[in-house]
Amino acid sequence: MILLDGKKTSGEIKQEIAAKVIELKAQGKKTPHLAAVIVGANGASVTYVNAKVKACEKVGFESTLVQLPEDVSESDLLAKIDELNNDDQIDGFIVQLPLPDHIDEHKVTLAVAPNKDVDGFHPENLGRMVLDLPGFLPATPYGIVQLLDRYDIETSGKDCVVIGRSHIVGSPMSILMARNNKVGNCTVTLTHSRTKNLKEITQKADIIIVALGKAEYLTADMVKDGAVVVDVGITRVDDPSKKSGFRLLGDVKFDEVAPKCSYITPVPGGVGPMTIASLMMNTLLAVEMK
Ligand code: NAD
Repeated sequence: MILLDGKKTSGEIKQEIAAKVIELKAQGKKTPHLAAVIVGANGASVTYVNAKVKACEKVGFESTLVQLPEDVSESDLLAKIDELNNDDQIDGFIVQLPLPDHIDEHKVTLAVAPNKDVDGFHPENLGRMVLDLPGFLPATPYGIVQLLDRYDIETSGKDCVVIGRSHIVGSPMSILMARNNKVGNCTVTLTHSRTKNLKEITQKADIIIVALGKAEYLTADMVKDGAVVVDVGITRVDDPSKKSGFRLLGDVKFDEVAPKCSYITPVPGGVGPMTIASLMMNTLLAVEMK
């Protein structure tokens, strides 16, 4: 079993990006600038956003954190997005999800200018992905593709099962794995909460990408020997022995699944850091596309 080390791989990608930033600066070009908008103070969201801002600093990007109160009105949030869309200093920005219930996430996604949508959530970028046109790929699926690519994992002709059909992970992931690309050319089965006999489906899979948000859902009996398993899930569970008071669990019962796998991602240290690396890659792309 080989661990798909997202921490190490994202570190390598960040080094490459940092070198490009130095190059841009030497050419007298603008330093890439990423902004992140966060609404409220949800613990996990704050952690993710801070990690993204910190990653920007590490690669030499400029970053701006826009913190809005939990009770910010939808119109005020949309006005902020409009401001960022029209700010020439900002190359790309993200609005951290989830948003409070009184804000329509679709409206927010549509409000972000497609050429600054470095999370790759806008319908224009999703459409570009489907048509295999240049654009921003959704950060988490893009990170997974990068991870499989950099570990040289053969995907062509393989049976790939994606568990979960969210708009930000499962659905775009299924499209990327079926595209005619180096990482791609799989026969993809997209499964979800209404799927019957999931176990029978996953047992036949060469590659399983799990993104349903249920801790330790994928067990050893659901996986065939030699499978590649990518675990997107992140669930916080109480753990008084930790300083933070919690630990993170993936959607895969790692200890029993890992010995059967040819490759597997850990949680933490797998897909999470790759998502951040993708955001950096997309921000660099935003600058290059200008
Ligand atoms: P979501 O809640 O939007 O979607 C979950 C999907 O799982 C749904 O499509 C649902 O149909 C499916 N599902 C639910 N129960 C199922 C079952 N029993 N069998 C099969 N499918 C089932 O989730 P999401 O936003 O895609 O996130 C999924 C997980 O990934 C969460 O734990 C989230 O925290 C994590 N996540 C991690 C990263 C990262 O960077 N590592 C990024 C995004 C999301």
